[in-house]
Amino acid sequence: MNVSVNNTLSGRKEELVPEDGNTFRMYCCGPTVYGPAHIGNFRTFIVQDVLRRTLEASGLKVKHVRNVTDVDDKTIRTSRELGISLGEFTKKWEDKFHKDCASLNLLPPTVEPRATEHIAEQIKMVSDLVANGHAYPSPDGSVYFKISSFPEYGRLSGFERENLATQAFNSAGEANSADEYERDNVADFALWKGRKPEDGDNFWESPWGEGRPGWHIECSAMSRKYLGDTFDLHGGGIDLCFPHHENEIAQSMCATGKEPAKYWFHSAHLMVEGKKMSKSLGNLYTLDQLLEKGYSPAQIRYALISGHYRQQLNFTFKGLDDAKSALTKLSKGVVSALEKFGMGNSDFEKLVKPGAKFEGTLFEPAWNALCDDLNVPKALGMIFSELSPLREKGTAGDIAALGALLYALGISLSLDGCDSCSSDDIPEEVMELARARWQAKKDRNFALADDLRQKILSLGYAVLDSKDGFSLERR
Ligand SMILES: [Zn+2]
Repeated sequence: MNVSVNNTLSGRKEELVPEDGNTFRMYCCGPTVYGPAHIGNFRTFIVQDVLRRTLEASGLKVKHVRNVTDVDDKTIRTSRELGISLGEFTKKWEDKFHKDCASLNLLPPTVEPRATEHIAEQIKMVSDLVANGHAYPSPDGSVYFKISSFPEYGRLSGFERENLATQAFNSAGEANSADEYERDNVADFALWKGRKPEDGDNFWESPWGEGRPGWHIECSAMSRKYLGDTFDLHGGGIDLCFPHHENEIAQSMCATGKEPAKYWFHSAHLMVEGKKMSKSLGNLYTLDQLLEKGYSPAQIRYALISGHYRQQLNFTFKGLDDAKSALTKLSKGVVSALEKFGMGNSDFEKLVKPGAKFEGTLFEPAWNALCDDLNVPKALGMIFSELSPLREKGTAGDIAALGALLYALGISLSLDGCDSCSSDDIPEEVMELARARWQAKKDRNFALADDLRQKILSLGYAVLDSKDGFSLERR
């Protein structure tokens, strides 16, 4: 069954079919690495991860490109304030981002290009746009894209060209960073930014003098390099739809004459406890902040996928608690089915991969729900309702289908965890810490694992590791 999602460009749900009939090529806008990513960022990346995994479970190969924005106003300003090089600064936050992604069970992209390593490709694209009349240099050494030269501008986001006075706000209604460069029309956006004193040593030579690329051009240049002039899908949070993605389409089409992507995939915003996320409300939670509160990465991932990607998700602490109960219920259901099959936990873990057939299995309805506009909440509900039938009348095909479904959702159950999981004399608080520690160890986050071990010790329990799991002992 083909996977379908809502295509922002057509405004309709469409089946995702790779243009070359074999490999699905997708580009997703990656993080700007100037600090830890927050759960709103991670929701977007996790939704994209579920899409990629679902495509793989449907039998497709996926080439997934996600960039790293390692030069912009914020990265330059903060690295200079700290007195370290831009490269040293962004490397630190890129590493942290990768670590967080691994904890949340996100598959690494196939290619992860950095903006600063693709300056030549960006300059080439800007030069082509200047040469064919779609861009113009300004006296301060910057180059602007001329929106009036592209009549189709606004097609993706639905912005009316005549109402387009400025690019000061994005499609989520948030202010974009101020842009004080000279331009003919206030809506024209910078492809190249002439060097300013506050840029310090962070500049590159170009036909227009020293400067650095604008943000939008990096995605056009890098998606083209790794996926070709036209690829299958471009993804991002809804806040990127305008102006970022609109600008990408304008640049790419005017440079190559071709539509850059067939499908545009946007996920809705995250709310926290019913409120918009903002610095002033202090609710831009990072992964570490949630781990410190005792929540596990698996719980956080589950909570972030539990709403439909096109609807605003209200992230709450109650939601995290519910995620814990749901994961426990799921683990218990799977463990009891495995017992019936005489299968060990490690046997099941080998089935958590793409490749299984869903047709005719107990989990076909759940799979169909996932394929139908990535309806994760519906698919989860259907998985739960099949756990009893699985135990009662399941077949090897059913258990393989469940493994493939869990792969698609990126749910990693800690089945191999505690040998004494069922013993009631260990407090749930200790169990939870121990599971989080086991996950941290699997994620190779040894600092966190050690912290959690200390916390468990302080509650009067020692953790003993074996090859496939751990056990707890009262001290
Ligand atoms: Zn982008």
